[in-house]
Amino acid sequence: MCFRPGGVAKPQECPNCKKKIASIGGVKQKVCPFCKTPLPAEDQAEK
Ligand SMILES: [Zn+2]
Repeated sequence: MCFRPGGVAKPQECPNCKKKIASIGGVKQKVCPFCKTPLPAEDQAEK
């Protein structure tokens, strides 16, 4: 079992406009839909 407990994806927050960006269908947004700022990559599971 390598999955983290919880299972609820945290909403991303735009570093520019500070708006919460919810992932839709489990797909994370790459750019802010509000100000088009590129969003930093979420913490990826390092091995
Ligand atoms: Zn934004």
